[in-house]
Amino acid sequence: MSKLNGKVALVTGASKGIGAGIARRLASEGAKVVVNFASSESEANEVVAKIEGDGGRAIAVRADIRSKSAVDVLVQSTIDHFGRLDIVVNNAGIYQFAKIEATTEALYRLQFDLNVLGPLLVTGAAAPFLAEGSSVINISSFVTRILPAESAIYSGTKGAIDAITGVLSRELGPRGIRVNSVNPGLIETDGTHANGVMGSEFQAWNEQQTPLGRIGQVTDIASIVSFLASGDAGWVTGERIVGSGGMR
Ligand code: NAP
Repeated sequence: MSKLNGKVALVTGASKGIGAGIARRLASEGAKVVVNFASSESEANEVVAKIEGDGGRAIAVRADIRSKSAVDVLVQSTIDHFGRLDIVVNNAGIYQFAKIEATTEALYRLQFDLNVLGPLLVTGAAAPFLAEGSSVINISSFVTRILPAESAIYSGTKGAIDAITGVLSRELGPRGIRVNSVNPGLIETDGTHANGVMGSEFQAWNEQQTPLGRIGQVTDIASIVSFLASGDAGWVTGERIVGSGGMR
């Protein structure tokens, strides 16, 4: 029997990259999955088609998670369609490095609204529906460990996520709800291709600094999320699990 049979998972930003990989992995473990996207409808539908092709169940739901009204509709659609919610993966996020002198309100809001406000709104809307044994997983980043130069805003958002993970593990723990973060190292995704990280000196530096000698793939992160979502991690909460091939 698959370890997530009977569970329902909501994965934000699951049309691409790490989120798409997580959605497919959770579905392969038996969960019914809500594939959230903001604009990439055809990619989200493709993720759903792949899950269904593998014998799983999924729906794609458009919602800009920076908006409370959109998030409320997203969570209600999950309940209306699948009848429950057990696993919330706060994955949608954006990364834009810049020198401190280049800080603008727009750059700040772009990253804090999606990376911090979004997970707060999604977890807040989901919380009333989460029963004992549920799991919230926040996708943070290894930047909170290595603190790279020129990442003050992005690292700030992920530092906030690590703190929020700890706070919510205390707040939701008495209801039997676990809250953990997964902090990936550099991962090959649509996003890291689009922003030019793939093939850059930054990628080469990461490979040199990583004991396992490569950058990560979405499957490396999806397997950690699958563990945290399952009863196998029933005694794990408030933790930050770094998946970076040993880079520190
Ligand atoms: P990605 O390939 O750029 O995909 C981003 C996803 O977020 C897309 O599905 C996108 O959907 C969705 N999204 C964007 N804005 C949204 C919004 N307003 N509402 C809902 N969804 C929205 O990103 P990724 O590289 O997989 O990164 C995913 C997460 O992992 C982020 O939190 C990132 O900070 C974290 N992370 C990534 C790496 C890495 O090296 N890739 C390392 C550490 C941490 P649409 O296209 O439909 O907008």
